[in-house]
Amino acid sequence: MASAAFTSPLAEQLAEDVLERFLRYVRIDTQSAYGTGTMPSTEKQLDLSRLLLSELEEIGLDGVRMDDHGYVYASLPGAENVDAIGLIAHVDTSPDVTGTNVQPQVLRGWDGNRNELPAEPSQVLDPAEHPALAERVGHDLVTTDGTTLLGADDKAGVAEIMAALAYLKQHPEPRHAPVNVCFTTDEEIGAGADHLDIGEFGARYAYTFDGSGLGEIETETFNACRVVVTIRGSAVHPGSAKGKLVNAVKLVAAFVASLPRDGLSPETTEEREGFVHPTGIEGTAEEAQVVLIVRDHDAAKLEEHLALVRRLADEIAEREPRARVQVDAEEQYRNMREVIDRHPEVVAAAEEAVRRAGAEPVSAIIRGGTDGARLSHRGLPTPNIFTGGQEYHSRREWASVQDMAAAAATAVELARVWAERSS
Ligand SMILES: [Zn+2]
Repeated sequence: MASAAFTSPLAEQLAEDVLERFLRYVRIDTQSAYGTGTMPSTEKQLDLSRLLLSELEEIGLDGVRMDDHGYVYASLPGAENVDAIGLIAHVDTSPDVTGTNVQPQVLRGWDGNRNELPAEPSQVLDPAEHPALAERVGHDLVTTDGTTLLGADDKAGVAEIMAALAYLKQHPEPRHAPVNVCFTTDEEIGAGADHLDIGEFGARYAYTFDGSGLGEIETETFNACRVVVTIRGSAVHPGSAKGKLVNAVKLVAAFVASLPRDGLSPETTEEREGFVHPTGIEGTAEEAQVVLIVRDHDAAKLEEHLALVRRLADEIAEREPRARVQVDAEEQYRNMREVIDRHPEVVAAAEEAVRRAGAEPVSAIIRGGTDGARLSHRGLPTPNIFTGGQEYHSRREWASVQDMAAAAATAVELARVWAERSS
């Protein structure tokens, strides 16, 4: 089958460079990890950071540097008296699925049939199950051999930004805004943009390239809290425990069982609906703990969900007054929409860039977070742009070369649109 067309001549021109870079980057294991106590959380992320450093120097950008956290920065000068825009992507991959020895394969002009991945036939790309896949018959698809994730999240974003920078450096006309780039580490463990110094970064607005389907521009995230419910019981030798033992394991289990069953969970909600989601449980008869993540796009509803967690914990405490029940909640990130709504020009420029790249802008919401959520609330409005990767954090992760090329073209067009709008 002949490969599907590209969205624009520019996308077609960028495709080969994007793919080449992408295949190079995904082979480097950059999995981040929880709880290592180091920054970045894993040393191996620096392997990609260092490669990007040398490639940025090769392209000939200014101010190429890496900081203590493995973030890589560089600047491409642009039109005079035009504010710099920021482009951001993360080098790490999810702790959920191994990223060791990624073996990418390219299915040129995919025929639309079910596709068993070569080293793990139980992993199947099935268009019947995934509408996004069914829509990409004829595309050149990149997949793994089925034993690892692909790492399109977010190496597709990294490759697209790199290809766009290389192109803009070679093609200063038509004029474009200066572009400041930052590749971050540890995004997947929720620490992505924590150490990005916005003042030093020097961009007025920024875009993360860390989304998914063609044309998507994401401006909304959850509001997010992490809650730990700790229950202290009273352990006694079970042989002489009658009337004395207060079993924290059972109390924590009772708390979890009291959570709503028919709603308010990831498995029963979609779109803007929030949830209360127990992610882990551990403990002994003496003390046990459950960790929950609480999410909602609406900040007031998030407060209601937190109040529910506290009320259910109180009920356990009332039922067993000898137990001590403690609820600790901490904010993880906030919905960026309220910030971005105050800067409609940031989204308008992205929509225009997507159109010029030959795609239709699609406004999408994120049922999760993004580096842009924190950055927006810290004063740098940062929507999230598609990358062309799909089914993230799984062994079936895949990416369309046509869509990745469209994302790279969007990055180029963004820099041009901002130059026009600033003059
Ligand atoms: Zn990502």
